[in-house]
Amino acid sequence: MARRPASADIGILDIVGVGFGPSNLALAIAAREYNASVSPAAALRVSFLERQPHFGWHRGMLLEGATMQVCYLKDLVTLRNPASDFSYVSFLHEQDRLVDFINHKTMFPLRQEFHDYLEWAAHRVGDVVEYDTRVVELRPVLVDGEIALIDVVGVRGDTGETVVRRARNVVIAVGLEPSLPPGIELGERVWHNHDLLSRVADMPTAVRHRFVVVGAGQSAAEVTEFLHTRYPRAEVMAVFARYGYSPADNSAFANQIFDPAAVDDFYAAPPPVKEMLNAYHRSTNYSVVDIDLIDELYRRVYQEKVHGRERLRIMRASRLVDLRRLDDGVAADVEFMPTGQRETIEADVIVFATGYRSRDTRQILGAMAEHCLDDPAGRPLLGRDYRLMTGPNSSADLYVLGATEHSHGISSTLLSNVAVRAGELLRSVAGRGGAARTDGAGSGRDGELGELASR
Ligand SMILES: Cc1cc2nc3c(=O)[nH]c(=O)nc-3n(C[C@H](O)[C@H](O)[C@H](O)COP(=O)(O)OP(=O)(O)OC[C@H]3O[C@@H](n4cnc5c(N)ncnc54)[C@H](O)[C@@H]3O)c2cc1C
Repeated sequence: MARRPASADIGILDIVGVGFGPSNLALAIAAREYNASVSPAAALRVSFLERQPHFGWHRGMLLEGATMQVCYLKDLVTLRNPASDFSYVSFLHEQDRLVDFINHKTMFPLRQEFHDYLEWAAHRVGDVVEYDTRVVELRPVLVDGEIALIDVVGVRGDTGETVVRRARNVVIAVGLEPSLPPGIELGERVWHNHDLLSRVADMPTAVRHRFVVVGAGQSAAEVTEFLHTRYPRAEVMAVFARYGYSPADNSAFANQIFDPAAVDDFYAAPPPVKEMLNAYHRSTNYSVVDIDLIDELYRRVYQEKVHGRERLRIMRASRLVDLRRLDDGVAADVEFMPTGQRETIEADVIVFATGYRSRDTRQILGAMAEHCLDDPAGRPLLGRDYRLMTGPNSSADLYVLGATEHSHGISSTLLSNVAVRAGELLRSVAGRGGAARTDGAGSGRDGELGELASR
């Protein structure tokens, strides 16, 4: 699909989305389905700016055999509109693989396959996306002293051209960024797992045939397994503070923390209850590993013990205390915390699988930041509809999808609710004016959208 010229004047849009990962992709589909159900005059005009040159969902971690941590029915649409032809089931049907998938008897598709699904969906709504366009700031547009519109300013990656898109509503869904321990700088032999596959493709010469992997979560365990399989001559040292990998709690009652209704409960709860719930249910998502993968790693460690060649070493209750770069590798000082004993490991590469954090939306807000309100803890103040609360002189609206764990709970950064919250957000936009301001359609919109959002 041809990209719109940077200088194109496309008038005022109802929604400009920043980022085009699953959150805004689900929103684009919800808008498409909504527009198909209303008169052309009432249709919402939407556009999305994405900094990647084409659609991609955590490409660096599309490891062979890695599976999803969410049921395939929590796709981009099904919980909002089970009849949508953007569902995972529709995708499988179109690939002529539906019956094979059913025979497979799994709820958790391959990560690669889910990526293909997202890419398939993104391609179908490709006319509303401008790729290779990184949003750098938002600028308020004043009309009679009031912020009536927002200019979303982006920069083209290939040409350096500036792109400005004017909107009534801006939806920021910029996802996660890698998190590293303080003082660690990435380099040729110091990696974060987020770009593992491209790093491996450019692997520097291996002298020691040894890797260090720091971390005890799902990504760390996946990287450990991957390197151990991919480099059959290499030792892999897994360094973490826990005594052992801990399993992810995906039991039925605990899983309800990801339900749409749990977002209502969480949003309404007082701050101490919010903290309590997040602490109780951290083990559904943070620093935990799928039990099958834990069993697989243990099986490998045990088998190597039996055969007398131990390539996979679990350095438990340990921490990295120093890291030095060598000409042809790295030297990592690792301390076994119970005794304080230290060991220096020379390796070809060290991989930090030390997690991710939500990108700070304030970096994108630009001059809009001073108009946004904070909660008493200094975090963005959000409505239940994901709207950033702004001062009294703003009628343009800003929404955030993703970085809302403090207000909307543990499912915020995940896929569990992408479909439902896209519908909720769309209903909010339309309820607060949406395209009605351009076409004067007004009433009636809310009713149709209410139906769309809850279908
Ligand atoms: C390896 C991995 C596996 C995961 N697996 C699961 C899983 O199985 N189940 C689950 O529920 N969750 C999973 N997650 C959590 C993950 O956060 C969600 O799957 C999902 O990516 C959230 O979608 P999003 O659109 O909010 O964010 P993202 O997918 O991160 O998308 C954000 C987009 O915004 C773009 N962007 C960022 N800044 C700018 C800018 N300034 N201008 C323009 N574009 C910008 C980015 O390029 C990106 O495409 C996984 C995460 C990782 C890292």
